[in-house]
Amino acid sequence: MHIAILSRNRSLYSTKRLEEAALERGHTVRIIDTLRCYMNIASHRPTIHYKGEELEPFDAVIPRIGASVTFYGCAVLRQFEMMGTYVLNDSVGITRSRDKLRSLQLLSRKGLGLPVTGFAHSPDDIPDLIKMVKGAPLVIKLLEGTQGIGVVLAETNQAAESVIQAFMGMKANIMVQEYIKEAKGADLRCLVVGEKVVAAMKRQAADGEFRSNLHRGGTASSIRITPEERSTAIRAAKAMGLRVAGVDLLRANHGPVIMEVNSSPGLQGIETTTQRDIAGLIIEHIEKNASHKQKAPPKP
Ligand code: ADP
Ligand code: GLU
Repeated sequence: MHIAILSRNRSLYSTKRLEEAALERGHTVRIIDTLRCYMNIASHRPTIHYKGEELEPFDAVIPRIGASVTFYGCAVLRQFEMMGTYVLNDSVGITRSRDKLRSLQLLSRKGLGLPVTGFAHSPDDIPDLIKMVKGAPLVIKLLEGTQGIGVVLAETNQAAESVIQAFMGMKANIMVQEYIKEAKGADLRCLVVGEKVVAAMKRQAADGEFRSNLHRGGTASSIRITPEERSTAIRAAKAMGLRVAGVDLLRANHGPVIMEVNSSPGLQGIETTTQRDIAGLIIEHIEKNASHKQKAPPKP
């Protein structure tokens, strides 16, 4: 197969590993800088141009679209979809995953475990919003934050109210969430490929920190997840319409709750921690699925 990896940077661990895994399995690979693709939407036959030339046809496209280029990256990916190319994750799934609120709304419709979450526009509604999510301590998060930035723990109702007011004053979109204290600063990253969890790790927040992101100093270890956690992760990826996803769960008293579903999960942490060849499993998934007639991901 001839595979394209849409990535801004060929030296990133995940990009390199996917390239390596594809080459090992006898495929040809081209790494394409997402922001250098341009397209003629008006043309009768949709095409993508790249650095002065029309791109050759690909059997599959692996999108690695960073949060900062979601809009342009999804437009490029959509163009591949219009051309009938198999894409590992499609533009709609990726767009959904980049909006925490939209994601939670889709997941809630499937009855999946979620922290109680509230969303409001008017500062007048803040006191009731806080009550709705059971009062402090509570978590306030920017809808489009990543790597734990824009996630704040408010210990008292008073603190919560002033932080929410400040965010609203800045016109930032935020949601307010019940704080899952019993998770003790740990979350589970479940890597879903196809309809399987192929690897899982536990991330523990640094001392004095409640956010377990590795970028915030968290540490990762291998873990066995329960069947309920496994099925939650698989159903979450499916609800989002993603074939490959990093599903983050917290262990709440009443079972697993979903934090978020990541559509371009990094491979370095999970491969290093679990010693599994995730890149290879992703390429195998493409081999099994891309050769058949393009089957759309499930419509949530
Ligand atoms: P990001 O997308 O920036 O990683 P998350 O929503 O995943 O933001 O939050 C970052 C981390 O903060 C989570 O991995 C988790 O450790 C912690 N966290 C977030 N929300 C909650 C919550 N409601 N209860 C307890 N911990 C939380
Ligand atoms: N299939 C979903 C629906 O009907 C799409 C919603 C979305 O992408 O947010 O609601």
